[in-house]
Amino acid sequence: MPGTGIGAGTGIGAGTGAGSGTRIGTRSHPRPVSARPVSAGPVVQLPTVFGDFQAQAWIDVSTGAEHLTVSAVAPADESQTAAASPPGLEAEAEAGAGADAAPLVRLHSECLTGDVFGSYRCDCGEQLAYALRMIHACGGTLIYLRGHEGRGIGLANKLRAYALQEAGADTVEANEQLGLPVDSRDYAAAAAILAELGLHSIRLMSNNPLKQSQLAALGIEVTEMVPTEVPSREQNVRYLKTKRDRMNHILQLPDRSGAASTGVPGITPGTTPETTPEITPETKGTRP
Ligand SMILES: [Zn+2]
Repeated sequence: MPGTGIGAGTGIGAGTGAGSGTRIGTRSHPRPVSARPVSAGPVVQLPTVFGDFQAQAWIDVSTGAEHLTVSAVAPADESQTAAASPPGLEAEAEAGAGADAAPLVRLHSECLTGDVFGSYRCDCGEQLAYALRMIHACGGTLIYLRGHEGRGIGLANKLRAYALQEAGADTVEANEQLGLPVDSRDYAAAAAILAELGLHSIRLMSNNPLKQSQLAALGIEVTEMVPTEVPSREQNVRYLKTKRDRMNHILQLPDRSGAASTGVPGITPGTTPETTPEITPETKGTRP
Protein backbone atom coordinates (compact mmCIF):
# COMPACT_ATOMS: atom_id res chain seq x y z
CA MET A 1 0.00 0.00 0.00
CA PRO A 2 2.34 2.71 -1.15
CA GLY A 3 1.55 6.07 0.26
CA THR A 4 0.17 4.87 3.53
CA GLY A 5 3.44 5.45 5.30
CA ILE A 6 4.18 3.02 8.04
CA GLY A 7 2.35 1.88 11.04
CA ALA A 8 0.92 -1.56 11.32
CA GLY A 9 -0.01 -2.11 7.73
CA THR A 10 3.26 -1.66 5.93
CA GLY A 11 6.89 -2.39 6.30
CA ILE A 12 8.42 -5.75 6.02
CA GLY A 13 6.11 -8.64 6.09
CA ALA A 14 3.41 -6.93 8.01
CA GLY A 15 0.25 -7.52 6.08
CA THR A 16 2.03 -8.60 2.93
CA GLY A 17 0.82 -12.14 2.96
CA ALA A 18 2.45 -15.51 2.53
CA GLY A 19 5.02 -16.43 5.07
CA SER A 20 5.25 -13.03 6.57
CA GLY A 21 2.79 -13.07 9.39
CA THR A 22 4.71 -15.60 11.39
CA ARG A 23 7.95 -13.65 11.10
CA ILE A 24 6.59 -10.58 12.79
CA GLY A 25 4.74 -12.37 15.51
CA THR A 26 6.12 -10.62 18.57
CA ARG A 27 4.47 -7.29 18.22
CA SER A 28 1.68 -7.62 20.72
CA HIS A 29 3.50 -5.81 23.52
CA PRO A 30 5.14 -2.76 22.08
CA ARG A 31 7.54 -1.17 24.49
CA PRO A 32 8.23 2.50 24.68
CA VAL A 33 11.07 3.73 22.51
CA SER A 34 12.78 6.95 23.41
CA ALA A 35 11.13 9.75 21.55
CA ARG A 36 12.88 10.07 18.20
CA PRO A 37 10.35 10.98 15.55
CA VAL A 38 10.90 9.50 12.13
CA SER A 39 8.75 10.02 9.08
CA ALA A 40 8.23 7.36 6.46
CA GLY A 41 7.82 7.50 2.73
CA PRO A 42 5.90 5.05 0.57
CA VAL A 43 6.86 1.41 0.24
CA VAL A 44 8.29 0.74 -3.22
CA GLN A 45 9.57 -2.31 -5.05
CA LEU A 46 13.37 -2.55 -5.31
CA PRO A 47 14.64 -5.25 -7.67
CA THR A 48 18.38 -5.76 -7.13
CA VAL A 49 21.24 -8.09 -7.99
CA PHE A 50 20.45 -9.78 -4.67
CA GLY A 51 16.79 -10.29 -5.49
CA ASP A 52 13.57 -8.34 -5.13
CA PHE A 53 13.00 -6.23 -2.04
CA GLN A 54 10.62 -3.62 -0.73
CA ALA A 55 12.26 -0.32 0.09
CA GLN A 56 11.12 2.61 2.18
CA ALA A 57 12.88 5.87 2.98
CA TRP A 58 12.75 7.39 6.44
CA ILE A 59 13.71 10.79 7.71
CA ASP A 60 15.01 11.32 11.20
CA VAL A 61 13.05 14.44 12.00
CA SER A 62 15.52 15.67 14.60
CA THR A 63 18.67 15.38 12.45
CA GLY A 64 17.34 15.36 8.91
CA ALA A 65 19.25 12.13 8.18
CA GLU A 66 17.64 10.02 5.48
CA HIS A 67 17.67 6.29 6.15
CA LEU A 68 16.47 3.37 4.04
CA THR A 69 14.83 0.09 4.91
CA VAL A 70 15.14 -2.82 2.50
CA SER A 71 12.91 -5.75 3.33
CA ALA A 72 11.99 -9.13 2.01
CA VAL A 73 9.34 -11.60 3.00
CA ALA A 74 10.37 -15.17 3.71
CA PRO A 75 9.57 -17.39 0.73
CA ALA A 76 6.26 -19.17 1.10
CA ASP A 77 7.76 -22.60 0.51
CA GLU A 78 11.12 -24.27 0.54
CA SER A 79 11.31 -24.87 -3.20
CA GLN A 80 11.18 -21.13 -3.72
CA THR A 81 13.93 -20.65 -1.19
CA ALA A 82 16.15 -23.26 -2.78
CA ALA A 83 15.65 -21.79 -6.21
CA ALA A 84 16.34 -18.25 -5.15
CA SER A 85 19.26 -18.54 -2.82
CA PRO A 86 22.93 -19.44 -3.05
CA PRO A 87 24.07 -22.80 -1.70
CA GLY A 88 23.80 -22.94 2.05
CA LEU A 89 21.32 -20.14 2.50
CA GLU A 90 18.38 -22.51 2.24
CA ALA A 91 19.69 -24.23 5.35
CA GLU A 92 19.68 -20.92 7.11
CA ALA A 93 16.19 -20.18 5.87
CA GLU A 94 14.98 -23.51 7.12
CA ALA A 95 16.70 -23.12 10.46
CA GLY A 96 15.20 -19.71 11.01
CA ALA A 97 11.77 -20.48 9.67
CA GLY A 98 10.18 -21.48 12.97
CA ALA A 99 6.83 -19.93 13.55
CA ASP A 100 8.09 -18.14 16.64
CA ALA A 101 11.40 -16.98 15.25
CA ALA A 102 11.89 -13.26 15.43
CA PRO A 103 12.62 -11.60 12.08
CA LEU A 104 16.18 -11.08 10.90
CA VAL A 105 17.35 -7.49 11.05
CA ARG A 106 20.61 -5.91 9.97
CA LEU A 107 21.46 -2.36 11.06
CA HIS A 108 24.00 -1.39 8.43
CA SER A 109 26.06 1.72 8.98
CA GLU A 110 26.72 3.69 5.83
CA CYS A 111 30.23 3.19 4.42
CA LEU A 112 30.68 4.80 1.04
CA THR A 113 34.10 3.30 0.35
CA GLY A 114 33.08 -0.20 1.35
CA ASP A 115 29.46 -0.32 0.22
CA VAL A 116 29.79 1.47 -3.12
CA PHE A 117 33.42 1.00 -4.12
CA GLY A 118 33.96 -2.41 -2.56
CA SER A 119 36.95 -1.23 -0.51
CA TYR A 120 38.93 -3.97 1.19
CA ARG A 121 40.05 -1.62 3.95
CA CYS A 122 36.97 -2.70 5.87
CA ASP A 123 34.41 -5.48 5.65
CA CYS A 124 31.32 -3.29 5.23
CA GLY A 125 30.61 -4.01 1.57
CA GLU A 126 30.88 -7.74 2.02
CA GLN A 127 28.73 -7.65 5.15
CA LEU A 128 26.11 -5.65 3.26
CA ALA A 129 26.06 -8.18 0.42
CA TYR A 130 25.91 -11.07 2.85
CA ALA A 131 23.05 -9.49 4.81
CA LEU A 132 21.01 -8.77 1.68
CA ARG A 133 21.41 -12.34 0.45
CA MET A 134 20.43 -13.69 3.84
CA ILE A 135 17.41 -11.40 4.12
CA HIS A 136 16.29 -12.27 0.61
CA ALA A 137 16.54 -15.96 1.43
CA CYS A 138 15.07 -15.88 4.92
CA GLY A 139 12.97 -12.74 5.09
CA GLY A 140 13.81 -9.74 7.21
CA THR A 141 14.79 -6.10 7.10
CA LEU A 142 18.01 -4.20 6.58
CA ILE A 143 18.13 -0.62 7.83
CA TYR A 144 20.74 1.39 5.98
CA LEU A 145 21.79 4.08 8.41
CA ARG A 146 23.07 7.28 6.89
CA GLY A 147 25.30 9.52 8.94
CA HIS A 148 27.14 6.53 10.37
CA GLU A 149 30.12 6.88 8.04
CA GLY A 150 33.38 6.08 9.79
CA ARG A 151 31.49 5.07 12.95
CA GLY A 152 29.99 8.54 12.98
CA ILE A 153 32.92 10.82 12.12
CA GLY A 154 31.99 11.34 8.48
CA LEU A 155 33.63 10.53 5.17
CA ALA A 156 36.33 13.20 5.13
CA ASN A 157 37.40 12.42 8.67
CA LYS A 158 37.37 8.71 7.90
CA LEU A 159 39.89 9.26 5.15
CA ARG A 160 41.96 11.45 7.48
CA ALA A 161 41.91 8.50 9.86
CA TYR A 162 42.98 6.20 7.02
CA ALA A 163 46.00 8.43 6.44
CA LEU A 164 46.95 8.09 10.10
CA GLN A 165 46.48 4.33 9.82
CA GLU A 166 48.86 4.27 6.90
CA ALA A 167 51.35 5.94 9.25
CA GLY A 168 50.90 3.17 11.80
CA ALA A 169 47.87 3.95 13.95
CA ASP A 170 45.07 1.45 14.33
CA THR A 171 41.46 2.41 13.67
CA VAL A 172 40.85 3.38 17.29
CA GLU A 173 44.09 5.33 17.71
CA ALA A 174 43.51 7.20 14.47
CA ASN A 175 40.19 8.58 15.66
CA GLU A 176 41.73 9.48 19.00
CA GLN A 177 44.61 11.31 17.30
CA LEU A 178 42.05 13.31 15.36
CA GLY A 179 40.29 14.22 18.60
CA LEU A 180 37.19 12.39 17.41
CA PRO A 181 35.06 9.77 19.12
CA VAL A 182 35.94 6.15 18.42
CA ASP A 183 32.28 5.33 17.86
CA SER A 184 29.59 7.99 17.97
CA ARG A 185 26.89 6.05 16.16
CA ASP A 186 23.41 6.48 17.52
CA TYR A 187 20.72 3.83 17.06
CA ALA A 188 17.74 5.84 18.29
CA ALA A 189 16.45 6.41 14.77
CA ALA A 190 16.95 2.73 13.94
CA ALA A 191 14.98 1.75 17.04
CA ALA A 192 12.21 4.17 16.12
CA ILE A 193 12.04 2.74 12.60
CA LEU A 194 11.92 -0.80 13.96
CA ALA A 195 9.12 0.19 16.31
CA GLU A 196 7.18 1.80 13.46
CA LEU A 197 7.56 -1.43 11.48
CA GLY A 198 6.26 -3.43 14.42
CA LEU A 199 9.63 -5.12 14.86
CA HIS A 200 9.92 -5.02 18.64
CA SER A 201 11.71 -8.36 18.91
CA ILE A 202 14.40 -9.25 16.39
CA ARG A 203 17.27 -11.55 15.51
CA LEU A 204 20.11 -9.12 14.93
CA MET A 205 22.68 -9.79 12.22
CA SER A 206 25.75 -8.34 13.87
CA ASN A 207 29.08 -9.20 15.46
CA ASN A 208 28.86 -6.25 17.85
CA PRO A 209 27.36 -7.15 21.24
CA LEU A 210 27.08 -3.48 22.16
CA LYS A 211 24.27 -3.08 19.66
CA GLN A 212 22.17 -5.57 21.59
CA SER A 213 22.33 -3.56 24.80
CA GLN A 214 21.88 -0.28 22.98
CA LEU A 215 18.75 -1.56 21.27
CA ALA A 216 17.44 -3.00 24.53
CA ALA A 217 17.75 0.43 26.12
CA LEU A 218 15.71 1.77 23.22
CA GLY A 219 12.93 -0.79 23.67
CA ILE A 220 13.94 -3.32 21.01
CA GLU A 221 14.58 -6.88 22.20
CA VAL A 222 17.32 -8.86 20.47
CA THR A 223 16.48 -12.53 20.88
CA GLU A 224 19.55 -13.77 19.03
CA MET A 225 22.78 -12.41 17.60
CA VAL A 226 23.27 -13.88 14.12
CA PRO A 227 26.94 -13.60 13.08
CA THR A 228 27.76 -11.75 9.88
CA GLU A 229 31.48 -12.39 9.79
CA VAL A 230 32.88 -12.58 6.31
CA PRO A 231 36.36 -13.88 5.47
CA SER A 232 39.10 -11.44 6.35
CA ARG A 233 41.50 -10.15 3.78
CA GLU A 234 45.13 -9.19 3.90
CA GLN A 235 44.09 -5.57 3.58
CA ASN A 236 41.58 -5.55 6.43
CA VAL A 237 42.75 -8.18 8.91
CA ARG A 238 44.45 -5.60 11.14
CA TYR A 239 41.30 -3.46 11.13
CA LEU A 240 39.19 -6.49 12.02
CA LYS A 241 41.57 -7.53 14.80
CA THR A 242 41.28 -4.04 16.26
CA LYS A 243 37.50 -4.34 16.15
CA ARG A 244 37.77 -7.69 17.90
CA ASP A 245 40.37 -6.71 20.49
CA ARG A 246 39.48 -3.09 21.21
CA MET A 247 35.75 -2.90 20.43
CA ASN A 248 34.66 -6.35 21.58
CA HIS A 249 33.35 -7.53 18.24
CA ILE A 250 32.84 -11.27 18.10
CA LEU A 251 35.12 -12.31 15.27
CA GLN A 252 37.05 -15.48 14.57
CA LEU A 253 40.12 -14.24 12.77
CA PRO A 254 43.17 -16.07 11.54
CA ASP A 255 46.41 -15.73 13.47
CA ARG A 256 48.32 -14.90 10.34
CA SER A 257 47.38 -12.27 7.86
CA GLY A 258 45.96 -13.78 4.72
CA ALA A 259 44.91 -17.09 6.21
CA ALA A 260 41.27 -17.98 5.90
CA SER A 261 38.85 -17.28 8.67
CA THR A 262 37.29 -20.31 10.22
CA GLY A 263 33.68 -21.16 10.68
CA VAL A 264 32.27 -17.99 9.27
CA PRO A 265 29.33 -17.50 6.98
CA GLY A 266 31.02 -15.69 4.14
CA ILE A 267 28.86 -15.78 1.06
CA THR A 268 30.11 -12.77 -0.78
CA PRO A 269 30.88 -11.88 -4.32
CA GLY A 270 34.56 -11.98 -5.16
CA THR A 271 35.39 -14.41 -2.40
CA THR A 272 37.24 -17.53 -3.34
CA PRO A 273 35.35 -20.77 -2.73
CA GLU A 274 37.88 -22.14 -0.28
CA THR A 275 37.40 -19.13 1.99
CA THR A 276 33.64 -19.15 1.64
CA PRO A 277 32.13 -21.63 4.04
CA GLU A 278 28.50 -22.37 3.46
CA ILE A 279 25.91 -21.12 5.86
CA THR A 280 24.68 -23.94 7.98
CA PRO A 281 22.48 -24.07 11.04
CA GLU A 282 25.68 -24.52 13.05
CA THR A 283 27.21 -21.31 11.84
CA LYS A 284 24.17 -19.19 12.44
CA GLY A 285 23.55 -19.87 16.10
CA THR A 286 24.00 -17.55 19.02
CA ARG A 287 27.61 -17.05 19.93
CA PRO A 288 28.76 -17.00 23.51
ZN1 LIG B 1 33.51 0.30 5.94
